[in-house]
Amino acid sequence: MTTDLHELGDLVDDAVAELLALLPALAAALERDSGAGEGERVATSTNVHVLPVNGDVLTAALMLQDEAWPAAHAARSWLNEPGDNLGLERTLDSLGVLYRRLVGRQFNSQARRLAATVLRWHRVTRQAIGLSRRAVPLAGSMGAITCPLHDDPLVQLRQRGDEGTLDETARGDREAIRWQRGGGLYCPSRDCDGEWGPSEYAFLGRLVAEQRRRLAPQETA
Ligand SMILES: [Zn+2]
Repeated sequence: MTTDLHELGDLVDDAVAELLALLPALAAALERDSGAGEGERVATSTNVHVLPVNGDVLTAALMLQDEAWPAAHAARSWLNEPGDNLGLERTLDSLGVLYRRLVGRQFNSQARRLAATVLRWHRVTRQAIGLSRRAVPLAGSMGAITCPLHDDPLVQLRQRGDEGTLDETARGDREAIRWQRGGGLYCPSRDCDGEWGPSEYAFLGRLVAEQRRRLAPQETA
């Protein structure tokens, strides 16, 4: 791992801040999940304006509940600073400071472990709430669409996942997530930096068509 310890501290602070902002959304999603009947759930699943609800939400909530205090407690033990479990929110809020104290006392590997844990919670929680959508392989009516910049190996293009941020000023029926559309295609091959934005799709389409002609078996006359 090469990330600088101070940089890592900034990532921890950002992750904790977003986790704290996401906690109410997590709780709200859980309530809706347990309160809705089967029929209602089918109806809400077609409404793109609500936070998605699924088993991942429960998993994320339990993960934070089960792991936050033990992680803080472990850090405090290294620092010889016993403390009481004051609840999830205040425990999460204390982790940035605990991380920096660990670094200050040169408990670097313990600090890195704490950071890795916080970043994992952040990733799992974002995915559970639906704020991170995975990149998806691109396919058309003729099957997989491959990168037109190389024929060997053929690599399927991907559409970037969307990333959302929680709009904390949203109330009631207003959309609580602001989406940054993933819009954009890229080649996942490490040796290729093929990347196309929506304004380049027509051009990309021509390249893909050319590749298909190039690779199509020669027709016999
Ligand atoms: Zn490529």
